[in-house]
Amino acid sequence: MSKDIDWGSLGFGYIPTEYRYVARFKDGKWDEGGLETTSTITLSECACVFQYCQACFEGLKAYYTEEGNIVCFRPDLNAKRMADSARRLEMPPFPEDRFVEAVKMVVAANKDYVPPYGSGATLYIRPFMIGTNSVIGVKPASEYEFRIFVTPVGPYFKGGVKPISITVSDFDRAAPHGTGNIKAGLNYAMSLHPLMEAHRAGFAENMYLDPETRTKVEETGGANFIFITKDGKLVTPKSDSILPSITRRSLLDVARDYLGMEVETREIPFTEVSDFAECGLCGTAAVISPVGHIYNHGEDIYFPSGMDEMGPCLKKLYDTLTGIQMGRIAPPEGWIYKIQ
Ligand SMILES: *Cc1c(COP(=O)(O)O)cnc(C)c1O
Repeated sequence: MSKDIDWGSLGFGYIPTEYRYVARFKDGKWDEGGLETTSTITLSECACVFQYCQACFEGLKAYYTEEGNIVCFRPDLNAKRMADSARRLEMPPFPEDRFVEAVKMVVAANKDYVPPYGSGATLYIRPFMIGTNSVIGVKPASEYEFRIFVTPVGPYFKGGVKPISITVSDFDRAAPHGTGNIKAGLNYAMSLHPLMEAHRAGFAENMYLDPETRTKVEETGGANFIFITKDGKLVTPKSDSILPSITRRSLLDVARDYLGMEVETREIPFTEVSDFAECGLCGTAAVISPVGHIYNHGEDIYFPSGMDEMGPCLKKLYDTLTGIQMGRIAPPEGWIYKIQ
């Protein structure tokens, strides 16, 4: 029985559900893992995660398709990316096949929290891993917890998608050869002050430039950029210090294989941005959020698509990818994982 939740008025917040998946790493190996009902974690005050921030995470969604199946979108890519993040932080990667199984297990156990088709709400899935034992000398932990909780969330944009105004940041999101390409809370911690500064100045997000030369477009604190050229090409930044977004990779495939668009992944000098016809941010939560305006130290860039709605090419991309996710359009092989 579906939970008695007012799906239409859900926000993007945390609501604990009945089950979470937990596996523990000790003595050099992962235990069997399984579902647990306790939503809190008790750890030593000296746990590595508190002292040296040894933590990484993932984010994906489960939802009902038009046909009435509960599915999630490309969880194998989240499994792989989390293993990459773990390796960069000297954490033991959680086996990728077990990651996908654990996602299925925890969603199935909490299926009453999956919002109904058409509500716009989804079940957000948050896998994460932390170093749990006490560490005071600087070194990686020897014990870890891998956990997946789920929480129902409302549509990212209430009342439709409006283009946002963003500002070019004077801060860097990540160090030049640092951790910019992994999904880790430490990068988010570094982005909180720049984000609040941007909000205080009236902007919704920051555009970070490459930390080495501050001339090339990177990403925002939590989403990749996609641009549409005036002749309808999809262009995205190439950089080793941005997070490889699964939404972005999927949009590139959709653009090329479903919409017959040309796609380019290459360095994008900031000076080229004012030539683009459309600009958007992409990520799991919103799929695409349109950007209408970029402020850069006294200079304003307004995209021809305007401040009222998403531009036509991004809209087509958005409709096609969400159509594939929701089962209205035939997906490429392996994109949709049926849970039940
Ligand atoms: C999660 C994330 C994204 C978006 O990735 P998706 O896989 O599309 O959700 C982009 N940038 C950063 C820094 C992220 O953490």
